[in-house]
Amino acid sequence: MLDYFFADWILPVDRPPIEQGFVAVEAGQIVVVGAISELPESQRPTRDTQIGTTLLCPGFVNAHTHLELSFNNQISTTVEPEAQPATAMGDWLLAVVNKTREAATPKEKLSRCRIGVAEMMRSGTTCINDITSDGGSVVAMAEAGIRGLASLEFFHPAFAVNYDRIGQVVKDYDNLMILCAPHPLIQAGLSPHSPYNVSPNAWQAVVESCHPTWIHTHLAESLDEAWWVTGKPDTGIHRLHQALLGKPYTPASPGRTPVDYLAEHQLLQHHMIAAHGVYCDPADILTLSQHGVRIAHCPRSNQWLQQSTIDWLEWEAYPHPVGLGTDSRLSTADLDMRTEARAAMAVHGWKAEKALQKITLDGAQVMGLEDQIGTLSTGKAADMVLWSSSQKIEPGNISAQFLDPKTGFVVKDAWVTGEALTLTKQHAKI
Ligand SMILES: [Zn+2]
Repeated sequence: MLDYFFADWILPVDRPPIEQGFVAVEAGQIVVVGAISELPESQRPTRDTQIGTTLLCPGFVNAHTHLELSFNNQISTTVEPEAQPATAMGDWLLAVVNKTREAATPKEKLSRCRIGVAEMMRSGTTCINDITSDGGSVVAMAEAGIRGLASLEFFHPAFAVNYDRIGQVVKDYDNLMILCAPHPLIQAGLSPHSPYNVSPNAWQAVVESCHPTWIHTHLAESLDEAWWVTGKPDTGIHRLHQALLGKPYTPASPGRTPVDYLAEHQLLQHHMIAAHGVYCDPADILTLSQHGVRIAHCPRSNQWLQQSTIDWLEWEAYPHPVGLGTDSRLSTADLDMRTEARAAMAVHGWKAEKALQKITLDGAQVMGLEDQIGTLSTGKAADMVLWSSSQKIEPGNISAQFLDPKTGFVVKDAWVTGEALTLTKQHAKI
């Protein structure tokens, strides 16, 4: 039996907006998308006298985040940016480690994951690409009924492989797989933190033992990292290692750039999602493209931590899947994908249609889900969000009006595979 969803505007993303439209769903899948006028009279909704506007669009995809870091405040970089622009990544990470140690029990982490999931659902996200230390985000996403990928984060900043440590990571990954198994909408992945926090041989050893479908890492995020891989001394990364390990960890064979370093060690691969990519030159961008690496671009986090972000003109010539991610609440003021889209529009001059595609279809492509979600089209899962605004929006440039905060659109209802999500209202006050 078909279920019909109606709205003043449908934003399918892969084709122009439809005024007074409908989406028909059967068994969780979209069957037809069209204008209400195309329906027989008996199937049309009874028109109410509403003043505002309703809008139905695909649920957003957040391509990079850390739900368990959903604290209340961002952490500022500890080195004055004026004195050492964009060199404070190591110091910031050390502050993150200290902050997470304050409340590090599984219960506390799960509570923050729930807060993060609720915030994302309230702002229209139904698919999350998360990095987790213990699988708490799997529990939070599963109980909310949303879709996601949770990748187990690990660190191994030492050239000589510590096989006890590797064995523990493999065990934790097996447990994450077991945790995800009953939830068909949630996949497990592996997250070697970054080139400077996992040595190439440890990275390879874990991947060879776990055979993960997905790898989600941080790559070319900071100038600190770009300097560290070249063997430059005294970076913020050195300060991080010194503070955490009590000794330095430097690359055994330096690379020209972070991307070059991973390529040299044969660690780039097709099912890899690399967050950030700020410090990439054209040769790196080509290398990433040749390996099919997918990019999670986080403009607000980059500007907070690096006072810089990717140069889109250099990237758009290559066919990379590039989605948008908020990163965690420790480097972003909120987890709202429309705000992230507006930040990308401001910094790259993107039109609203492009930004909307980045937070829907392109995010889905980053996660390998483009055949299942990201647009409202026949055959895809009914992962969609109904928005409402008290204002009447005018025909023309619907995406721009939808993303504009002045129109005041708020989430009214949301569905994943046609199932209504309830957390949105339940957690409204978190
Ligand atoms: Zn991150």
